[in-house]
Amino acid sequence: MRIPIIAGNWKMHKTAAESVEFVESIKDQVKGTDVEVVICAPYTLIHSVKEAIQGTNIKLAAQNMHWEDQGAYTGEVSPIMLKELGVEYCIIGHSERRQYFNETDETVNKKVLAALKHNIKPIVCVGETLEQRENGETDALVKAQVVKAFAGVPAERVAEIVIAYEPIWAIGTGKTATAEQANEVIYNIREVIRDLYGEEIYTEIRIQYGGSVKPSNIEEIMNQEDIDGALVGGASLKPDDFVGLVNF
Ligand code: PEP
Repeated sequence: MRIPIIAGNWKMHKTAAESVEFVESIKDQVKGTDVEVVICAPYTLIHSVKEAIQGTNIKLAAQNMHWEDQGAYTGEVSPIMLKELGVEYCIIGHSERRQYFNETDETVNKKVLAALKHNIKPIVCVGETLEQRENGETDALVKAQVVKAFAGVPAERVAEIVIAYEPIWAIGTGKTATAEQANEVIYNIREVIRDLYGEEIYTEIRIQYGGSVKPSNIEEIMNQEDIDGALVGGASLKPDDFVGLVNF
């Protein structure tokens, strides 16, 4: 039985005061939910969100991390540092990081392995551009991203990883993949995990959809058989919208 996971990715938004206000205004409204509720905060807000979510069912994620434990990497943050702050999940390989900060399948793989080493659960993002979709490359591309991200991950750790299928053309654009389009790719991703790890494990891994999810389309997305939740950017910034997503 896979527990759905709704994760709000705040990207580069909010001050510490705003983050606390946000948590205060949603915490009672999300406490009865059956889904796992996660806030992916910028580094600067991790401490304030951690304090604010004490005693709630809201979990804390970072949006990125380096793969080394420590070292001369100015401006970077290591998994040890995140773990010390109480981070449970970390987004890895978001398309904005791949697009603007030169992240590759290789660095994504290093980060996945480093996160697992420090018991941080990776939320691994994969997805195609519009051009790749129109050229019929979606399945091959997403498969290659998943295979590379999971290189060296032992079978017993796979269920700790969440995959977020995020078609790049649907992120922050207002264009959502249809629920059927999303489910089709997510079904194929699960098949990739079956090929890599076998029957038992492939049913355990959670695969989210991300790309312009909002309260008005969450239900349709969540009703799809293979979709186990959503990674949400824009609609996670306003308390009412986020509550609507969690209580879809
Ligand atoms: C995201 O940030 O992962 C995302 C899917 O953004 P949005 O919901 O705004 O499309």
